[in-house]
Amino acid sequence: MSDDFDKHMGLNILIIILIVIAFIQYIHKKSSSIITRKQAYEFLSAIRPGVSIVPKSWPNGKRCAVALSVDFDAESSLLFKNNKSLARHDLFHIGNRQGVPRLLKLFKNFNIPTTFFIPGIVVELYPELTKEIAKHGHEIGLHGWIHENVEDLTKRELLDLYTKSKDVIIKTTGFIPVGIRTPFAKFSEHIPEVAKELGLLYDSSLVSDHDCFIINRRGKSTNLLEIPISRIRDDSTYFNYNKQIVPPKDVLDIWKLEFRKAYEEGGVFQLLVHPHYMGYRSRIWIMEELCKYINTFKDVWFCTHKQLAMYVKSQAKRGL
Ligand SMILES: [Zn+2]
Repeated sequence: MSDDFDKHMGLNILIIILIVIAFIQYIHKKSSSIITRKQAYEFLSAIRPGVSIVPKSWPNGKRCAVALSVDFDAESSLLFKNNKSLARHDLFHIGNRQGVPRLLKLFKNFNIPTTFFIPGIVVELYPELTKEIAKHGHEIGLHGWIHENVEDLTKRELLDLYTKSKDVIIKTTGFIPVGIRTPFAKFSEHIPEVAKELGLLYDSSLVSDHDCFIINRRGKSTNLLEIPISRIRDDSTYFNYNKQIVPPKDVLDIWKLEFRKAYEEGGVFQLLVHPHYMGYRSRIWIMEELCKYINTFKDVWFCTHKQLAMYVKSQAKRGL
């Protein structure tokens, strides 16, 4: 009886000890999951918008800069995600079959130079179309190799992929890229270093401002110019694959308002569209109406992102 009692007591004590240990571990785990002040400051300082560069005037006394851009992704984002749905891939073909030709025709009719950001694999998949884009005088910028998420990659991996992309663009078109837009609206603190090693002039991926600015990394200027984009001026906000989220007329109204205010302020109106969203008849209409509307304003400077970056940087050197 006494032996049984001792055994029972011993077991109870052991269970209590185990429960106490598990509770201490739980409390410790809970408290360590809260970010410390040091960790928060370290994370926040990785990449931040630095000094803004707002020229007092634009070339030849123009009042406002208009920089249109096209992200020609084709099927690259699906290939990156290893998506094997043929129907899903099919949704993107409207971009290369209708979107790019329609946009090229529209830009030619309005005599507008623009910037196409194209992943390396898309240049390889559609070499003739890429050559056509370059032949029309549009700038070609980097957009990853296979539309990869830059946040998952090391500096070495990014450098290898972007070098490969830069090489295929030069080999196909003869154009030397000077700008980068990171895919999926993601960003990495390695981008300024990668851009520097590739001899790039600007990035156009962040959404922190309307005006151009210099990107800071770990509290220091990287000297890399940012031409900010915006979710408001991005067609993927309103159209998702074949789904119509916002009516075309409403999208046109929003973009007209964005332009008009940029014009009043003497700033930059930057726009981002995708051929696989804009290839549809009711959507290319938005671009036609927008270009007609902008043309009713005097003294607008239509420029590529490269031209914009070169001008803004030259003004910064002169102290504006
Ligand atoms: Zn893209």
